[in-house]
Amino acid sequence: MKQLVGRFAPSPSGRMHLGNVLCALLSWLSARSQNGGYVLRIEDLDPDRCPRSYADLIEDDLTWLGLDWDAGGSKGGPDGSYYQSERTEIYQHYFDLLEQKGLIYPCFCSRAALHAASAPHLSDGRVIYAGTCRNLTPDEVAQKRKTRKPAARLIVPDRTITFTDGLQGECTEHLPTECGDFIIRRSDGVFAYQLAVVVDDALEGVTEVVRGRDLLGSTARQIWLHELLGFTPPQFIHMPLLNDVDGRRLSKRDADLDLGILRTRFTPEQLTGALACAAGLIDRPEAISARELIPLFSWDRVPHGDLCLPEGIF
Ligand code: GLU
Repeated sequence: MKQLVGRFAPSPSGRMHLGNVLCALLSWLSARSQNGGYVLRIEDLDPDRCPRSYADLIEDDLTWLGLDWDAGGSKGGPDGSYYQSERTEIYQHYFDLLEQKGLIYPCFCSRAALHAASAPHLSDGRVIYAGTCRNLTPDEVAQKRKTRKPAARLIVPDRTITFTDGLQGECTEHLPTECGDFIIRRSDGVFAYQLAVVVDDALEGVTEVVRGRDLLGSTARQIWLHELLGFTPPQFIHMPLLNDVDGRRLSKRDADLDLGILRTRFTPEQLTGALACAAGLIDRPEAISARELIPLFSWDRVPHGDLCLPEGIF
C-alpha cells in the first residue's frame, strides 16, 4: 500500500497563531500516528505579503513545538525547493497543459466589475463569475490587452464534484452554479493558490490534506484540477475552527495569541497540552509533548464542531 504523506502548508504572511499551530499539530499527529511521511511547504506565492523572514520563523516555531518534517519529498528533494515562490516554472508547465486543452481564457474584469455583476454571492462571500470574458473574440482580447493585463480563468464544465471529507462527511459542489470559472493566474502574473496547491500536493506525493474548515469551499475546485491534470486527489480532512473560551472565533488579530508572545509565556508542552485538550485528545490541559500524543491520536476523538480553548490558560 502507498505510504500516507501528510503536509503543513502555511502562508508566511505573519507569525503563526494558535489556529495554525493546531493545524500543524493535528496534521503531523495524523501522519506520524500512521507511520506516514510529512511535508512542509511554504506557500509564499505572493512575494509582497510573504517575506522570507516569516518562513524562517515558521520553521523555528515548528521545531520549538517538536514537529519535524521529512528531508526527502519536497524539501531538497527531486522537485526542488519547497518555497512556492521558487516553483513558478513548474506551475507554468501545468498552466500550459490546461491552456493547450483550451480550458483557459483571459479575464479583464476589474474587482469592481466582478462585484457589480448580477451573479449570486455564496454564503462564504465568493462571487460566481458571470462569464463576462468567456466568449471574447480575438480582436476584443487584443483591444483590451492594450489597456489592461488580464487574469487567467479556468472554464468549469457542467460537473458535480462529490467527496467524503474525513471530518465533515460527504460534500458536493456543482461547479457551474456553486463555483463558476475561477482564476488560476492573477493579472500580476502570480499563479493562484488553487493551481499551486494542487500541483504541489500531487508532485510531493501528499495523500492526506489536513487544514482548517475555512478552506472546505476550495476543495471541489482542487479536486477538479487534480482530475484535469491526471493526478489522484488526496484525502481531505477539514478541521473545526478554534474558538476562544467565550466561543468567539480566533483570528490573526488576536496578536497576543501569536507564537512570538506565546513562546515567552508557555513551554512547548504546555501549549501542546492546551491544544490537545481543545481537540479532544486529552481530558485535561496538562503539559505533554507532540511525540507523546502520537499513541493517543485518533480522528474519532476530534469533535466535528468548533473547538474551544480550555479555560484559564490564555
Ligand atoms: N496556505 C494556506 C493557508 O495558510 C493553506 C493551504 C492549504 O492547506 O491547502 O491558509
